[in-house]
Formats: sequence, structure tokens, C-alpha cells
Amino acid sequence: MYDTIIIGGSYAGLSAGLALARFRRRILIIDDGNPCNKNTKESHNFVGHDGESPSSIIKSVKSQLLQYETVDFLHDSVSEVHAFSEYCSATFRNNKVFHARKLLLACGITDLLPPIEGFGDCWGISIIDCPYCHGYEFRDKKAVVLGTLKKVKKIVTLLKPLHADIDVIEPSPPLGHKEEGFNIAADSHIDNFYSAIKSIRHKNGLVQSIIFQNDETKSTDLIYAPRPFELSGNLHAQLGCKKTKHGYISVNKKQLTSVRHVYACGDNSNLLRSISSAVYSGTKAGMMINSALAVEHERT
Ligand SMILES: Cc1cc2nc3c(=O)[nH]c(=O)nc-3n(C[C@H](O)[C@H](O)[C@H](O)COP(=O)(O)OP(=O)(O)OC[C@H]3O[C@@H](n4cnc5c(N)ncnc54)[C@H](O)[C@@H]3O)c2cc1C
Repeated sequence: MYDTIIIGGSYAGLSAGLALARFRRRILIIDDGNPCNKNTKESHNFVGHDGESPSSIIKSVKSQLLQYETVDFLHDSVSEVHAFSEYCSATFRNNKVFHARKLLLACGITDLLPPIEGFGDCWGISIIDCPYCHGYEFRDKKAVVLGTLKKVKKIVTLLKPLHADIDVIEPSPPLGHKEEGFNIAADSHIDNFYSAIKSIRHKNGLVQSIIFQNDETKSTDLIYAPRPFELSGNLHAQLGCKKTKHGYISVNKKQLTSVRHVYACGDNSNLLRSISSAVYSGTKAGMMINSALAVEHERT
């Protein structure tokens, strides 16, 4: 019986693990090696690591965490989870089952990229959704914003210190009445957004131009693109965790989900997507789980 099983060993999960390990909690972290920012060569806006590659940040965090004697780490995938009245369980792909007093979902989210030729190759390199993460590296370069009526003005104003040359491509028909834009939940209407684009011409992930269905082209160096997402995997659904109206796992101030003993942290429960937010909510989840374990121990 572990104190906590953490599913997802990226920024959020490892941060939670560190807080728990420092209280000698027996933890098992499982990760199948598929973080959302894997396409990106350099990570930015994370203090102390600006410009470092995402994998090198993870590598150093992991090596520090594994120094703690109560931490187990497995490179594997969890396919099934249960929360019972006194404990939780996690089943691996090979049907091996582990038990713990608490479960932490740090599985992240999955971006649903449109099936446009070249889009995936440029995603996280020169097609981005977060100007704080990658905008500065393209300062003074031409940028295109794929924006909706509601969001365009706000985003263009925000981007002015970075780009003098900004073009906006609006979806047709306009989607202005909905909650689209950056960080929107999966929505079939988003398909309309990209339907006018045939392909993205690029060199090694660096956008050169957008080719439209009518064969018109628009040259650009960078594309700011909203993308729908879904929560990675279905473990939250298996457990019956409630979701927010934006499609995230609903958590309270202690990162506790609507299901007893089950916590969530990182992108799956946080609107402000960044490594520092994932680290913050992961650390908080670790501290809150630790204090719940301490209180429960006192009672028994
Ligand atoms: C292209 C791109 C570039 C970005 N660039 C930046 C940047 O420069 N700066 C910045 O601050 N933020 C950046 N971000 C945001 C940042 O990467 C995320 O906020 C952060 O990775 C969230 O951390 P997380 O731990 O919640 O999720 P993730 O990092 O996505 O990790 C989730 C982990 O859970 C694992 N997992 C999921 N399901 C299971 C399962 N069933 N069993 C086992 N393991 C599982 C996955 O393999 C993965 O390793 C970027 C995001 C994207 C998409």
C-alpha cells in the first residue's frame, strides 16, 4: 500500500511527488512519457530554466526526486483506476494492480490539432497558442492570429509589443458567440475555423506560408492558433470526477476532486497553462495530500 499513487510524472506530478517525498511518504509515480510540450525545443517563462529544453528540465527534476528513498518511479501507463471508501487502486496495461491511500491525477491535456498538412510539424515551434511561452523568440517577425471576433481584438492588443506586422484570419462563419479562443474545451465548431486552410508550408517546423483551399497564400513566420483540447485519457471519467464548464477536472482549494481520495493538478485542472502553474498546483496538491494523510493517521 502506497501513501499516494501519482499518475503523470511531468511538471505537476513530479512537483507533488517532491512535497510528499520530503515527508517520507511512500509514493509511486507512473508516467508513459508523453508530455504535451514534447515538440518544443526550448521552454520559456519558467524562472531559472528559461531557454532550456523541456526534457532536460524533467530529467533534472526526476534525478533529484529519485534521491528520496520513499519514491518509486515506473515508466508505464495506467489503464484503470478505482476509488474505494478507504483506498484507491491503479491498474497497469499488463494488469498489475497497485494500491494507495490517495490518488493524484497529473495526466495533463491533449491538444486536438486540425488535420491540416504541416500543422502538426509546426505545432510548438512556429504554430503556438501561448505568446508568453514562445512569442518573444519571434519578435519583430510577421505573425498571423487565427482569431474569433470576440478574442481577436484582445489578442492583437496583447501582441503589439512583439510584432508590428500582425494579420488576423477569422473563421467563417464567425464563431463570436461562443467561448472559443485560447484554451477552449473540445468543440466541434472549431473545425469551421480551420476549414479554409489547405496546408501549412514550412521548413523544419518553421512556418513559411499558409495555403488556403482556394490556393491563395499568406506568408508569415508565426501563427497563433487556438486549439481545442481534451483531458488526456479517461481515468477522470472512470472515477466519475466532475468537470468545469471549460472542460477541466473540477478541484477545490486543496486540489481535491469531487471524488473522495482523488486529487488532480497541472493542466488537467488549471486554466492558466504553463510550467510554473503546473509546478504550483502540483506542489500544492502534494502538500494538501500530505496534510490529509497526517490528519487521517491521527484519527486511526
Ligand atoms: C507545444 C507546447 C509548448 C509549451 N511551451 C511552454 C513553455 O515554453 N513554457 C511554459 O511555461 N509552458 C509551456 N507549455 C505549457 C506546459 O508544457 C504545460 O503547462 C505543462 O507541461 C503541464 O504540465 P503537466 O504535468 O500538467 O502535464 P504534461 O506535461 O502534459 O504531463 C502529463 C504527463 O502525464 C502522462 N500520462 C498521461 N496519462 C497517463 C497514464 N494513463 N499513465 C501514465 N502516464 C500518463 C503523460 O505521459 C505526461 O508525461 C507548452 C505547452 C505546449 C502544448
